[in-house]
Amino acid sequence: MGLGDPLTPERGGAEPLRIGVLASQGDFAAHTTMLRSLGADPVQVRTAEELRDLDGLVIPGGESTTIAKAIEHDGLESAIRAHASSGRPILGTCAGMIICDREHLGLVDATARRNAFGRQVASFELELEVGGLGPDPMRAVFIRAPWIEDHGAEVEVLASVDGHPVVVRQGRIVLCAFHPELTDDSRLHALLMALATSSRDRSASDGQPATSNEP
Ligand code: GLN
Repeated sequence: MGLGDPLTPERGGAEPLRIGVLASQGDFAAHTTMLRSLGADPVQVRTAEELRDLDGLVIPGGESTTIAKAIEHDGLESAIRAHASSGRPILGTCAGMIICDREHLGLVDATARRNAFGRQVASFELELEVGGLGPDPMRAVFIRAPWIEDHGAEVEVLASVDGHPVVVRQGRIVLCAFHPELTDDSRLHALLMALATSSRDRSASDGQPATSNEP
């Protein structure tokens, strides 16, 4: 997929990208700040109505069982599915990775393993090279993080730790096991915005929704 330069998401003169941050629970405020610093118009979303017509969506870290219950309780599942099936991008981080897996929303053909690094290893940081984001490694903050235990052929692995995928992508959905919002490295958010721009451009040029994200 041609993305231009994923590290410079700004679109001169165009309407800012409206990027939703699911704000049911967890670490949504820092994502909002990071997206705003990149020139997006971030929207904290808690209702199905607020999920409509977004250019992109972040599903943040937190507690995946709590977020899954909130999605069910607040009737958000079909709105998130509609967002994904219209080809609009999603960045799922940590618990957000789990929410998108086969055992939850099934938006990505992958199974995440919760607390995969062990509950004792509550938190650690390392420098991680992420495919497509340039040669400089990212400072990756892992907090009771999952990894991808198993995935289908459509899923591209962008980074691994000890052989376990921790950043993956399928179409315009990017899942990351760590917390990119807790550092000042905004490249994954910039990637989400570049994917949102490509989705918006496609819809504008052919009048049709961009290619579906459905597996
Ligand atoms: N361990 C959490 C879960 O399984 C995820 C942790 C996080 O998002 N930082 O839901």
